[in-house]
Amino acid sequence: MSEKISGIAASAGIAIAKAFVLQNPELTIDKKSIKDTSKEIERFQAALDTSKEELSVIKDKANEELGEDKAAIFAAHLLVLSDPELVDAVKQKIENEQVNAESAMNDVSSTFINMFEQMDNEYMKERAADIRDVSKRVLAHLLDVQFTTPASISEEVVILAEDLTPSDTAQLNRQFVKGFATDIGGRTSHSAIMSRSMEIPAVVGTKIITEKIENGVMVIIDGLDGHVIIDPSQDEIATYQEKKAQYEKQKEEWAKLVNEKTFSSDDVQVELAANIGTPADVKGVLANGAEGVGLYRTEFLYMGRDQLPTEEEQFSAYKEVLEKMEGKPVVIRTLDIGGDKELPYLNLPKELNPFLGFRAIRLCLEEQEIFRTQLRALLRASKHGNLKIMFPMIATLEEFRSAKNILMDEKDKLINSGTEVSDNIEVGIMVEIPSTAVMADTFAKEVDFFSIGTNDLIQYTMAADRMNEQVSYLYQPYNPAILRLVKMVIDAAHKEGKWAGMCGEMAGDPIAIPILLGLGLDEFSMSATSVLPARSQIRGLSKEKISTHINEILEMDTMEDVIKFVETNF
Ligand code: PEP
Ligand code: MG
Repeated sequence: MSEKISGIAASAGIAIAKAFVLQNPELTIDKKSIKDTSKEIERFQAALDTSKEELSVIKDKANEELGEDKAAIFAAHLLVLSDPELVDAVKQKIENEQVNAESAMNDVSSTFINMFEQMDNEYMKERAADIRDVSKRVLAHLLDVQFTTPASISEEVVILAEDLTPSDTAQLNRQFVKGFATDIGGRTSHSAIMSRSMEIPAVVGTKIITEKIENGVMVIIDGLDGHVIIDPSQDEIATYQEKKAQYEKQKEEWAKLVNEKTFSSDDVQVELAANIGTPADVKGVLANGAEGVGLYRTEFLYMGRDQLPTEEEQFSAYKEVLEKMEGKPVVIRTLDIGGDKELPYLNLPKELNPFLGFRAIRLCLEEQEIFRTQLRALLRASKHGNLKIMFPMIATLEEFRSAKNILMDEKDKLINSGTEVSDNIEVGIMVEIPSTAVMADTFAKEVDFFSIGTNDLIQYTMAADRMNEQVSYLYQPYNPAILRLVKMVIDAAHKEGKWAGMCGEMAGDPIAIPILLGLGLDEFSMSATSVLPARSQIRGLSKEKISTHINEILEMDTMEDVIKFVETNF
């Protein structure tokens, strides 16, 4: 009997494939005495060889799909496995102490890890992390425990996991990973956002999917309606194949609008842009007919690696995006780390409330070298396209002024050293903290633009963690409280002759789109795959008609009232 589990539809599309359950291996190591030590050494060597083979495959794949910089970590792991100091020490321990390979490997690697961790040098500390990762893999083989990383998948599957970290998500190979479902997470958790930019159907926040499923069972991921069907019948498979075909057909219709601009039925033009996480996402932006990049989340450049990206690495990523966008606007957001996006190598203390903590612009204003490096890379790249710089998580005008002063300082230094910098870079802010939405009229005098980050604006206004599916009912984009804040921001921008965009997920939401159009939003930035459906929807909407109902909508009691009104009237 099949079973249907519901979750949150995170990325549109249907996937039908075998389940691949991604688990952290449990490694329990017992020390045993061994008589036949040469056989034990052979067993150790075999585990080592298998681990090396796996890592080479992963490295090659990472190289092809994600580029050399991301693959470098696997090359480092391979080096550890060939290091005679480690390998010989394990063999000697087995031989001399007549102990099993697991315990010898565990003891030797722990000694090395401790030694490297004690060192003052950052590079050496990172080696400790490499050794830890690699030993886990070898130990898993010795203990015959399945060890998996998303990058090692080489057949068509759907991934089921408790959660996927953004760096797990970045390792997914689109050729083989047809979809995924997780126990935790909401529509705006970053793995969900990345699944949309990678166009992988996904359902998140199912609470129980990993308890319900085993490797190899057939699964359907319905990313359109947010369901996972475990062990479907032939009839169900046929139904979903039909649903998939219909969705593909609908996509073909939308595709006809790929080279069009975006006008409402009464000829009001808006800009539809896309959100990206890496330069590789630009392909999807152009293929989906976006008119610009409304949000480049640069933090992914800093993640899934073990040290900060250099100025040169950043410069080449920003330049690549700007060049590929050929003069279309590109809003690049400065580092927004924190919340669910961690950088282990910064060794920041754990916080009780990471979403309210030392993150984003707060961290950048404190750790200025990190910030200044990024700003230099951005300024140098500015000559290669139409760059707009945006600061995240601005809560006070002082924060904006400080960030802008640092930017101007770096700009002056670059110009004085003879570096060319564009002289019309707009500098704006994310409006994602209620204090800033309320003070938008004041900010509007000093910023060049606003981009409303509703993912955070909603979580902070409703006091509901965007990662916690138990409070996901409070993620209420159409709650009049949110709509009133959005109106304040748009009106404030227009009063000062500035533009207002939105780059939170709400911008691509079919219920929100008519309201946002009516409120006068200038730029809508969304997952690339939402651009064409949004364009098709806006072509059928009259801004003037919606505008006459805006006050009525803002006066409504509840989100449900708003939804009902939009569904029946627009
Ligand atoms: C937002 O908060 O709406 C936003 C776009 O930023 P992020 O999702 O990266 O926090
Ligand atoms: Mg945000």
